[in-house]
Amino acid sequence: MGEIRFGGRVAIVTGAGTGLGRSHALGLAERGAKVVVNDLGVSRDGSGASSEAAEAVVDEIRAMGGTAMAHGTDVSDEAGVKDMVAQAMDAWGRIDIVVNNAGILRDKTFAKMEMADFRKVVDVHLIGSANVAHACWPIMREQKYGRIVLTSSASGLYGNFGQSNYGAAKAAMMGLMNVLHLEGARDNIRVNTLAPTAATRMTEDLLPAEAQALLAPETITPGLLYLVSEDGPSRVILGAGAGSFSQTQVYESTGITLMDEDNTPEAVAAQFDQITDPAGHVEMTDAFSQTRKYALNAAKARGLKLEW
Ligand code: NAD
Repeated sequence: MGEIRFGGRVAIVTGAGTGLGRSHALGLAERGAKVVVNDLGVSRDGSGASSEAAEAVVDEIRAMGGTAMAHGTDVSDEAGVKDMVAQAMDAWGRIDIVVNNAGILRDKTFAKMEMADFRKVVDVHLIGSANVAHACWPIMREQKYGRIVLTSSASGLYGNFGQSNYGAAKAAMMGLMNVLHLEGARDNIRVNTLAPTAATRMTEDLLPAEAQALLAPETITPGLLYLVSEDGPSRVILGAGAGSFSQTQVYESTGITLMDEDNTPEAVAAQFDQITDPAGHVEMTDAFSQTRKYALNAAKARGLKLEW
């Protein structure tokens, strides 16, 4: 495999003023991409705003001979995102790569959670990612080239106490990826999800000091760079941290089929072990794979012929 380069490519990295986004922006620029460094410059809970962080990263990129511009929009502001995309198009004429990375935390147990904090976190992570992808979508379709990464989290994929808002927003990345992957395929738009775990200000009070040294954001960026590369995959959830990389997949068990008067809650209860038995589980490629499987199971159980 040849060296991965991004010469001639234009990338937008959101939340790139610090932490993981900064590392991704520097990594892309180092390998030749022109980079829009987006950052609203907020604190960890999304309060305040400053353009300094994004501008400092642009300075770093320029100092190493790269090309970059700063844009301070809030990713959840659709008009601001459109302006960022328009500025990138005016300056560089294309957008090849979108790294949706901006994020905030407003942790509380669900019992104490205000819905305003639930909504705010969904707004930044989910609506923000959709805004940027949506504004770039027609450009990528026209170019017949696009690479989009959404940033999820183990909190969304596996759960984390006190993060119902964040976990829901992060799990939504998988749903957005699954559909954009299908809709983008014919125009060479590939969509993946990164699930990082890194020592940044977001996690600084949660990790032991020795672990923080191992979990530097720079250990994750190589995985991100592969995901957005020309020969990168699509519809992959890549876990990354401290140099470890792994894939998360959703599987469906083989299950059972209950017919007619046998289809009762008691029968579901009685066969729950078999329903949930992972032996023979498979990955579904789209929603209708499941519908087809169920209809075929029902037809087979009845001795009917069903072509689908
Ligand atoms: P960070 O707090 O260091 O950086 C986040 C950046 O996003 C900040 O610079 C902030 O100003 C910016 N930002 C926040 N809201 C914004 C908005 N509305 N518009 C534009 N910019 C905005 O956090 P990080 O740890 O580098 O996290 C980056 C991404 O990775 C986030 O999506 C986060 O949820 C995700 N993540 C991080 C970890 C981890 O262990 N650090 C784990 C899982 C997922």
